[in-house]
Parts: sequence; structure tokens; C-alpha cells
Amino acid sequence: MPLTRETPLTDLPGVGPARGKKLEKLGLRTLGDTLDHLPQRYEDRRERHTMRDAPEDRPCCVCAMVAETPRVSYIRRGLSLVKVKAVDETGTACITFFNQDYIREVLRRGESYVFYGAVERQGNLFSMTNPAFEREGAQRATGLIMPVYPLTAGISNNLMAGLTRRAAEECLDGLPEILPARVRKDHQLCQTQFARKNIHYPADFEQLAIARRRLVFEELFVLTCGLAQLKDRRSAGEGRVLAGAPEDFFPLLPFPPTGAQRRAMADMAADLASGRAMNRLVQGDVGSGKTAVAAFGAWAAAKNGVQCALMAPTELLAEQHARTMEALLSPAGVRVGLLTGSVKGKEKKALLAALAAGEIDLVVGTHALFSQGVEYRDLGLVIADEQHRFGVAQRGALAEKGGSVPPHVLVMSATPIPRTLALIIYGDLDVSVMDELPPGRTPVKTLLVGEDKRERMYGFVRRQVKEGRQVYIVCPSVEENGGWEDGPGMDLKAVTAYAAQLRERVFPELRVGFVHGRLKAKEKEETMSAFSAGELDVLVSTTVIEVGVDVPNASLMIIENAERFGLSQLHQLRGRVGRGKHESFCVLVTASRSDTARERLRALCATNDGFQIAEEDLRLRGPGDFFGKRQHGLPQLKVADFAADMELLKEARQAAEELVAADRSLSKPAHRLLKKKVRELFRENAELFN
Ligand code: ADP
Ligand code: MG
Repeated sequence: MPLTRETPLTDLPGVGPARGKKLEKLGLRTLGDTLDHLPQRYEDRRERHTMRDAPEDRPCCVCAMVAETPRVSYIRRGLSLVKVKAVDETGTACITFFNQDYIREVLRRGESYVFYGAVERQGNLFSMTNPAFEREGAQRATGLIMPVYPLTAGISNNLMAGLTRRAAEECLDGLPEILPARVRKDHQLCQTQFARKNIHYPADFEQLAIARRRLVFEELFVLTCGLAQLKDRRSAGEGRVLAGAPEDFFPLLPFPPTGAQRRAMADMAADLASGRAMNRLVQGDVGSGKTAVAAFGAWAAAKNGVQCALMAPTELLAEQHARTMEALLSPAGVRVGLLTGSVKGKEKKALLAALAAGEIDLVVGTHALFSQGVEYRDLGLVIADEQHRFGVAQRGALAEKGGSVPPHVLVMSATPIPRTLALIIYGDLDVSVMDELPPGRTPVKTLLVGEDKRERMYGFVRRQVKEGRQVYIVCPSVEENGGWEDGPGMDLKAVTAYAAQLRERVFPELRVGFVHGRLKAKEKEETMSAFSAGELDVLVSTTVIEVGVDVPNASLMIIENAERFGLSQLHQLRGRVGRGKHESFCVLVTASRSDTARERLRALCATNDGFQIAEEDLRLRGPGDFFGKRQHGLPQLKVADFAADMELLKEARQAAEELVAADRSLSKPAHRLLKKKVRELFRENAELFN
């Protein structure tokens, strides 16, 4: 039977049911699937030398005849060696394989093989360790640019390469072309067959680059087509007309708004009155005053007789927002409710009934807000705070609660995102940037200290408290040696134990409380409100305080094991201090001696500019953290790299927008396959496209 792209992998020689299962773990079921399983890197195995001429600084191929029967020796449990001598016209090499006993049966005396690996030399004797090899003339694993694939236990790279080779050699005919001919021509992209063959088995690195460019473009094009469709759909969406002038709202604020706040509110007011559904992102560094902007939206909604839902990422933050909103808006007659996972029983029932009856104007909560059974009388505005915790999908789900007319959507983010990434993550939103902090702030002074300064640091805590200030101490984990993904081993400061120690031994004279994510919501709330009321001097916590919490009297933050956090996360944490009129400090404590870790932390000491820090984070850690699926809800990309492929991203995005402008639903026959790919890529966000 000829092989096709639909041939199950288990039909191929060497793939039984057991391996079939393992391949499935990699998402590979058919031969065609392997075409999309792309190499992680390549080994240039084209260079061939004699032993004597072999380069010292890089591996190469050597052709040699096996001169004896391989010998196995067992060194100890779990360690065996196969040793064999091989000769070419320039010398003899001793070749050693670790824990690969089967090689004894494979290498035959008197036969010639090509070995690929580093050739080491001691006098006249050569040696190689764990080389790849194959019979001379095979040209399967040597004499070429060898793809190196992501693997799983029980699947070797040779097996994987064998599969992709069969796919690339036998199943490329008739592979349908996704990219419209016009786009391919305009952007000088190679054909799909060429790209798929050469991404696995490139003749040389130029061809590889040509292939890769096409695949990156394709991936970004499909993604941006999806985003363009979303944006198109949203901006075409009819919206309620909500009238309200920011000037009429200002008197409710306890402070004059900053210029940035005024601009963001004006953008919003224009959106709300436009007759189309708003989809706006307000991006502003921590402390820039986004809450007031949200309050304006809630006020405008209530004024027009529709409801507003304000969604926060944690219960703590939801509770705080509810209090702030109540204080700001109840004088204007806005009725505020709170709905989180810990609102239960009678209380919950009453709240749901009030929501459905329209007796609540603004409901603040966590994602409980869009769970089933929550009915709104007339939901006109959805606000999501700290958007990096909310995916596109969740935004969509909430928007659906709006009934026949989609609600206006406002998203607020304090995570400064590098421009490139913003283009993708927020591709479907309009953006207001809040680039101004409320007046009278002094930037937070950030210091990096080692263990040797611990006593001095505790002294500093006492002095701050003596002056009437409050202090946060943040630790990476909840329990001793647990709850931290990198596992035990480091002396991690664990919240509960550390708080007890501080209380008993270090600060017996101070009032020390603690919060972490595993406490009951009520306990958390009690501790948090005690801290914000000034009844606690020191609050020990995990990152639950990362987002949004506002205690202006707190002037010092200590972050233990600072090397464990990402830069952007540290910046967020630091934003909890410096919110009042007092000079504020952030102390990063690390015992790490690693230069990169310290360099990273120093970058944080050097600037308070969130965007600069985000760029640095991107440079040091790659886009993975910004693009962790959890964070944004957008599909995971396979080929493209946002830091490196920025130019191509711009091209792809422009092409996508042009295409979607001409064919909004991608319904032209020439776009059928593209449409299918877009749907596949956004599979988990399918509801957005319906
Ligand atoms: P964000 O959510 O953007 O991090 P918040 O809305 O929590 O910031 O505001 C941070 C602090 O600044 C709060 O204590 C808030 O009351 C205060 N604030 C906001 N806007 C102003 C302003 N225009 N003038 C003075 N203080 C302000
Ligand atoms: Mg906030």
C-alpha cells in the first residue's frame, strides 16, 4: 500500500502499539502529522574527515572499518560500556558507547561505518564517545544536515527522523497550499512542499532559511488572520449608546485626575457613545491610577441604566475594588455588589437575584462573574482588570452574557508588554496608554542585598515601622520545601514558617500577619483589611499581593529569594509600595551567586520604567513568559519567535488585514483552507468565531 499523509504511524515498520502511544503523546498519529513536528535544531553532519585531519573544535564524520568484535563491560549497576576499535587509513580510534548494549549486535567486524562525533586525540590514538553512526553509503544519519527533534521517552531521534523522512519523500505530492498565490508572490514565499521538505531535510542552510521564512510567515499569517477577523467582528458589532461626560464624573474623585486619566476616560467616553461596541485596552504601569478610569466606566453605565461587571484576577483584589468602588460611586447612587467564589448560600442567592432584577448596577468579582447561573438584567459594560491573567476566551465568555447586543469591553493591564508582543496579544483591541503617574510620587528605591545584610535589613524594617510605616515581606512559596515548582533544595523562605519565625524571634515587638493563596478567602480578607487599616506592621505573603492591592502607608517591600521571580513580576510586586507620599524602598534579597541572576536583578534596581523592564525580560528569558498560554489565551506558536521574527510579523499582519478587509468571513473558495487553519489554531477559542 502506498503511504499517504493519512497513514497511521502504527502501520510503519518499527512502530508498534507501544511506540504508537508514545508518538501520540507528541501529538503524532498519522504520517502527515510528522510533517508539522519540526526540528528543534540541526546538526551539520556533512563534513567528512580522516581521523588525523579531524577538526578539534567541532564534531565531524569519519569513515572507518570496525576492526574487532565489540566488547561490553558492566562497570556498576546502571552503567555499561561498549568498546570497539575502528581504523581508517590514518589511524585507529577507540570508540566507546555508554549504556547502549545493543550496539554490540549492530556493529560488525570488517564492515565500514560513518561515525559522527567529536574526535579526540592522544598522541597517535584517537577516540570517540557515543558517536552517531550508520553503514557507509546509507546517507540517512550522516553526510547531511541532520534534524534534531523534540522527543519523548522511548522515541529516538533516529526513529523520528525516519518517519519525517518517509513523510517528506513520499507524502508531499498534492499537499494543499494555504497561502493565497497573491500573498506568496507579494512576500516572496516558497511553496508549501518545498518548505516542508526543507525544514526537515535542508540541502543547505540557505534553503533552510527559505523554508523557515515561509513557515513562520504562514503561522503568523494564520494567527493574524484570526485576530483581524476578531477585530473586524468586534468593531462591526453594534453597541449600546452610553452617554456620559468625564467632566461630570470628576467631582466624585477625591483628587484631580491626571492628564493620562483624562485622556483614557475621553477615549472611553467616545467609544461608549459611538454606537459600536467598545473593545479597549488601558495599559498603564502600576500606580498610574487605572481604578479611577474603571470607575468612570461603571458610573457611565449606571447613569444610562445598564449594568457593569468588573472582573479581577484574585478574590483579594475583587474585594478591594468593591470597597473602593462603593466609596467612590455610592454617593452618586450606584449600587455595588461583590461576587467571588467565597460568596455562598443565602448571600449568593440574594446577590444573583438582585443582579437578575437589575437592583445592582456594578458587580465586582472574580471569574465567578461569568460562571453559569449568573444572569444579568442588562449587562452593558465588562471591565477586566489586570488583563494578563485573562485570556481572549474569558473575555469572550463574559461578553456573551450581554444578551443580543454585545456589551462594551474595557481591559486594564499593568503589565507593560513590548510593542511586538502587544501587537499580537492585543491585536483585536484599541489601546489607551497611561504614561503618567499621579503627582507627588517619589520613585521606589530598589536595592539588591545578600544574606550578609540580613540583620541590617531587619533593623531598617524596625526603623520604618517606628516612623509609622508598614512593610511587606514577599516569599516565593507557601510551605517549607513545597509549593514551589523548581522543587526543594534551596532554602526558600516559606510564608507560614517564616512569619512564625519573624513573629517570635525577629520582631517580637511588631505586629506580624501573613497571607497566602491557600488561606480561606475570609482569613485573607481579614488579614488584608487589618493591614490596610494599619493594625499590622508587617505583612508576610506570597505573590497573592502582586496585583492591585493598595496600601499607601506601606513604604518598604522586601522580596526574599528574589532570583526566583521574573523581572516583570518583581516590578509588579514593587508597585505595591511608593503609592503614598512617603519615600519608599524595595529590597531584593538573594543568596544566588549566579552572574546572570544578579545581572537580571540589577536591571530592576536601575530603572522604574515598566516597558524597559519588559524589554529586558523579553531579551533575557524569551517570549515564553509573555506567551505562556495561561496568560493570554492565544494559541501556542510552533515556528515563529516573536523576538526574532518581528519584521515578518509586521508583513504577515499587514497581509492578513488586507485579506480580511476583502473577505471578512474568509468564505471565498480560495480561502477555504486558510479559514480551516484559522479555526484550528483558535480551536480553544472557538466561541469567538461563532
Ligand atoms: P493602578 O490600578 O493603575 O495600579 P490605582 O488605581 O490603584 O493604580 O491607583 C494607585 C493610587 O494612586 C491609589 O492610591 C489612588 O487612590 C491614587 N491615585 C489615582 N489617581 C490619582 C490622582 N489623579 N491623583 C492622586 N492620586 C491618585
Ligand atoms: Mg489596579
